[in-house]
Amino acid sequence: MSLSKLFHPSTVAVIGASRKEGQVGREVFTNLIDTFPGDVFPVNPKADQLEGLKCYDSVTEIPEEIDLAVIAVPAGIVPGVLRECDQVGIGNVIVVSGGFKEVGEKGVELEREIAQFAKQRGINMIGPNAIGVISTGSCLNATFAQEMALPGNISFMSQSGAFCTAVLDWANEAGLGFNHFVSLGNKAVLDEVDLIREWDVDENTSVILGYLEGIDRGSEFIQAAREVTQTTPIVVVKSGKTEVGASAAASHTGTLAGSDSAYQAAFEQSGVIRVDTIEELFDFGSILAQQSPPESRKVGILTNAGGPGVMAADALEKYGLELAELEEETLEGLGKVLSALASRKNPIDLTGKANEEDYRKALDYVIEDDNVGSVLAMSAPAAIFSYPQLAEILAEAREKTDKPIVGTLMGGKLPDAAAESLKEAGVPNYFDPDRAVRALSALVDYGDVSKKKVTSPDQVLPEEVDLEAEVRALAERADGMIGLEGLGLLSRLGIPVVESWVARSADEAAAIAGELSAQLVLKVESPDITHKSDLGGVKVGVDPEEVTVEYEELLETVRENSGSSNLRLEGVRIQEMVKGEEVIVGVNRDPQFGPLIMFGLGGIYVEVLKDVAFRVAPVSRPEAEKMIKSINAYPILEGVRGGPGVDVDALVDIVQKVGQLACEVPEVSELDLNPIIVDSSGPRVVDLRMRLTQ
Ligand code: ADP
Ligand code: MG
Repeated sequence: MSLSKLFHPSTVAVIGASRKEGQVGREVFTNLIDTFPGDVFPVNPKADQLEGLKCYDSVTEIPEEIDLAVIAVPAGIVPGVLRECDQVGIGNVIVVSGGFKEVGEKGVELEREIAQFAKQRGINMIGPNAIGVISTGSCLNATFAQEMALPGNISFMSQSGAFCTAVLDWANEAGLGFNHFVSLGNKAVLDEVDLIREWDVDENTSVILGYLEGIDRGSEFIQAAREVTQTTPIVVVKSGKTEVGASAAASHTGTLAGSDSAYQAAFEQSGVIRVDTIEELFDFGSILAQQSPPESRKVGILTNAGGPGVMAADALEKYGLELAELEEETLEGLGKVLSALASRKNPIDLTGKANEEDYRKALDYVIEDDNVGSVLAMSAPAAIFSYPQLAEILAEAREKTDKPIVGTLMGGKLPDAAAESLKEAGVPNYFDPDRAVRALSALVDYGDVSKKKVTSPDQVLPEEVDLEAEVRALAERADGMIGLEGLGLLSRLGIPVVESWVARSADEAAAIAGELSAQLVLKVESPDITHKSDLGGVKVGVDPEEVTVEYEELLETVRENSGSSNLRLEGVRIQEMVKGEEVIVGVNRDPQFGPLIMFGLGGIYVEVLKDVAFRVAPVSRPEAEKMIKSINAYPILEGVRGGPGVDVDALVDIVQKVGQLACEVPEVSELDLNPIIVDSSGPRVVDLRMRLTQ
């Protein structure tokens, strides 16, 4: 159902509009009559009238059609009130009442009840436990916050009510405006997925900002965000980053997947810009709301002070931007403008001697330069021209070009004089060069997101393999943990695995080795052992002739190290010895996002190095590629010191296949292919651990 009447109602009822000032319902009512040009109807059976308006006993008695109801009655009464709203066909409600999920068990039940009803009846419900909704376009302040927002083209949502009121106060002070401003509350019905979809098609929203504590509909969020970020940037603060992962995990992937990995992955693959601080949220928000991404990462820096220019140049590198190399023409032009002391090279230092006209001309040359993607216009307070004058110059420049222009008018009070005209011109201004460059880099990065074609994950597993049956067969033979016996399945899925043979006795081992000439690897075969090397159960580099002796020794070592006499030792697995780099591909399940796929540097040190990347499965080919390239050790895989590098394409294929496997077989709760040994000729999976659940 469209949310348009939620944000643009003609009539609003406030149910629970109390006579007592300071009561939530009363505050919402007062805010509404202060701002909203449409009709407001207070509902309160205990009062005849409020602020000169007739009070109704029930929403069902209001003679007009109501577009939006704000419910501010005690939690226990909310279900009844909601039913009355439905009786008179109200399609949009905001429940500001608390006393639901946030108070524990009883509230959870009540919340489930109202959510179910609202969903069934197609009612758009915000909350419960929300501050409310502001829509500046319709002068609607349906909140109990103390302030109304300024108009603007940022739409903001927050899961924390306290954060809402704080942001509102701060934004008003900073002169930052909003189109829609939503306190999500407990998100019983409407959540971030609905809002980003709504705001994507909303002409007056050019950037979406959010403060989120959690996302319940993980895959819907990824799907929606992927589409939305093509045209509307989304910037999110997600709190709760440091929570530790599930400790009961049996696999490396499970151990390494903290609760945040899924969020990080989801944001990355759907183009959502994640920030850590409120400052960044609004720094990024204001540039994204005012300017469009540039064509290149190259930046021209214009300054009247050397130090800050150098600082900005350093920041470029830090945030992945580049200093533009200026064209000959530009240098010539600048030569005419600048004094002998000045530096023509980027960052262009006009020095404190430059006047208003010099700045204007120099800026023109820089804008015109084809090598320059965007411009950082910096200034320290100068005696020769004022900040309002500079603001005018930047506004003129903004008229002449589509290239982003970012202001860094430094100072405390002085830039305030220019704030209004900069805002009007759509030039974001930052005090700190580092902040300015960081914000610019967000704009540039967003350019990459919006240019990127949304690629859907393709079918990569051979269709003739009956996955369900294969997994069932494996599960029958083991009590949930699958080891190297699962290599056959991988191989049938087209994932290259090492050649291996199982010997149940030293004689069998000798017979197998007799056919082989190269060096071998021996591994203990036991359903009771998950980490084989921990018990000395892996022997690498064994000559075929030594296999008989090594067989007995290996089992003896394991028996000794385990300290247990009833360990089931079924024999020894003999593998070819593979050379190359060790990597890991794994799967873990996240309660909100489903299967997570991990890629990283593998082997027995994977948990020490933690050089891994996560994505929510399934992944498209470009996404899998990006994921592999994102680990710190990627240069090693690419080949160092003239080395040939490894077969990355084949790794991409494995990542995709394992991702699809995890999606299609929900019983796979954890999976490690660790290590996969890979060189230029291709990868081989040499170890496997899979946990199956019913
Ligand atoms: P586990 O993880 O149970 O200890 P692995 O089968 O992963 O046992 O073996 C441990 C280590 O032995 C691997 O990380 C790798 O360094 C090495 N290794 C295992 N199999 C081979 C093989 N076929 N070729 C080369 N090295 C191997
Ligand atoms: Mg291993």
